[in-house]
Amino acid sequence: MVTLLEVRALTHEYDGGLRALDAVDLDLSAGEVVCVLGPNGSGKSTLLRALSGVLTATGGTIALEGRPVSGLGSRERARAIASVPQVLQALPDSDVAGFVLGGRYPYLGWWGKARDGDREAVRRALREADAEEWEHRRLGELSGGQCQRVLVARALAQEARLLLFDEPTAALDPEHQVLLFELFARLVHERTAESSEAGGRGALIATHELALAGRFADRILLLDGGRVVASGAPRDVLREDVLKPVYGPHLHYGSGPAEEGTEARPLIVPWPRPKVRSSTARGS
Ligand code: ADP
Ligand code: MG
Repeated sequence: MVTLLEVRALTHEYDGGLRALDAVDLDLSAGEVVCVLGPNGSGKSTLLRALSGVLTATGGTIALEGRPVSGLGSRERARAIASVPQVLQALPDSDVAGFVLGGRYPYLGWWGKARDGDREAVRRALREADAEEWEHRRLGELSGGQCQRVLVARALAQEARLLLFDEPTAALDPEHQVLLFELFARLVHERTAESSEAGGRGALIATHELALAGRFADRILLLDGGRVVASGAPRDVLREDVLKPVYGPHLHYGSGPAEEGTEARPLIVPWPRPKVRSSTARGS
């Protein structure tokens, strides 16, 4: 498998000395969907922002497609990695096609003039993200689910092989959460299967959706206090002995339905701790 991302001992201290990332190691190959889990404040967004270049980590190394990011210019980096941030800065009041065209910035010439190839890339990206029908709408008119698809399209228009998403389903209803994760899996798995590996994509998704991570992730990275506390296949990470020390007692551990050709996936949902009926209360 082609390695898209190699992170070694990535460490970040914010001003004031708070260590938000502590010696994080991570590899991601073409064809992989990796979910980053961890409670609020565990360092997920800091990790994604360090990867996308929004912040410069204070220690460690990042290599994209085998090249250290320290040697890449911002346009080169943007051709390798596309990021949808957690807090969407107030989206511009632009039309969808114009907004997705913004994803072409690492390819545009000095004057930023779009060529036919850029407009073709926008159409392809909208098609792949199932967002074509809103091409002529304005961003402000779209629902949360539609908006997320347009953001995915913008990331696809960037033609980077590594896609980063920070809590992409946080504002979506259950139906749209599932549809978005299905889209991620399709973008990564089908593209890698049908094209040469050299064109394959990978995705890194920070999320609190333990059930969807269990169903769709190929691998999970679990962060706590900036450190990797577990990493591996969903069945090896989404276990009570691993999650309880990190997330506390309010989770229910089950498994999803077995599907043809695959074993059942762990299905973890938030749930209050069962009340234990006290024996002395009865029969008195
Ligand atoms: P998560 O995305 O997992 O909720 P973050 O990466 O946002 O976690 O935050 C990790 C830690 O870094 C938290 O303790 C948070 O308060 C702190 N932090 C995040 N952003 C900043 C910042 N700009 N300046 C100082 N501390 C920050
Ligand atoms: Mg975050």
